[in-house]
Amino acid sequence: ANAAEAKKTYTIATDTTFPPFEYQDASGNYVGIDLDLLKAIAEDQGFEYRLQPLGFNAAVQALQSNNVDGVIAGMSITDERKQTFDFSDPYFEAGPIMGVDEQNTAIMSYEDLRGLRVAVKTGTEGAAFAESIRDQYGFTIVTFDDSTQLIEEVKAGGSAAYFEDYPVVAYGIAQGNGMKTPLGKEAGGSYGFAVNKGQNAELLEMFNAGLANLRENGKYDEIMAKYLGESF
Ligand code: GLN
Repeated sequence: ANAAEAKKTYTIATDTTFPPFEYQDASGNYVGIDLDLLKAIAEDQGFEYRLQPLGFNAAVQALQSNNVDGVIAGMSITDERKQTFDFSDPYFEAGPIMGVDEQNTAIMSYEDLRGLRVAVKTGTEGAAFAESIRDQYGFTIVTFDDSTQLIEEVKAGGSAAYFEDYPVVAYGIAQGNGMKTPLGKEAGGSYGFAVNKGQNAELLEMFNAGLANLRENGKYDEIMAKYLGESF
């Protein structure tokens, strides 16, 4: 083998704070379902990668502009995104849900949002859902780049509610973040690993093959149980 055939190290972008999919532990290491899956798949398939925690919207933009090879960031597989990106097989079911402060008894339905502010995260499926019902229910949307800012905004009373993927909202509530969900979840895309359309096909193939192996050998269930408990 010569230098030109040397194995490529893929650059993979992720979100910064999207627990339980990616977040920093007490020692500042990035952990979470996405990162454990990626690590296990890379080991299974024998590829090397460098992780770039950029934030969700920045990660998607970095992929679109070819600054990274792939994105794993609880990224929903949507028809619109399929025009720009190629997605792996789905690895987790999601969909946005409305969260409010647990003390708040005034917001029981979307009708109760009339004239109020709603917080969403830039470029997400939750943001797109909020935009799709904004005119019907007459609320205003404020956007933030980071999931933690949504909780801070609602806690501080700046916004009456926020929209975010239900596994992330449920995880935050279970961790005691002081929020609650008055309504059920909305339909949404499942999570997939993304590469730029028509590029890094071999990486996508390895991701799918590794994911299938992990589902087969129990490692997928092990990772889910580690972050979600035995009852996921
Ligand atoms: N699943 C959502 C989306 O793809 C949010 C992802 C995220 O915030 N990391 O838009």
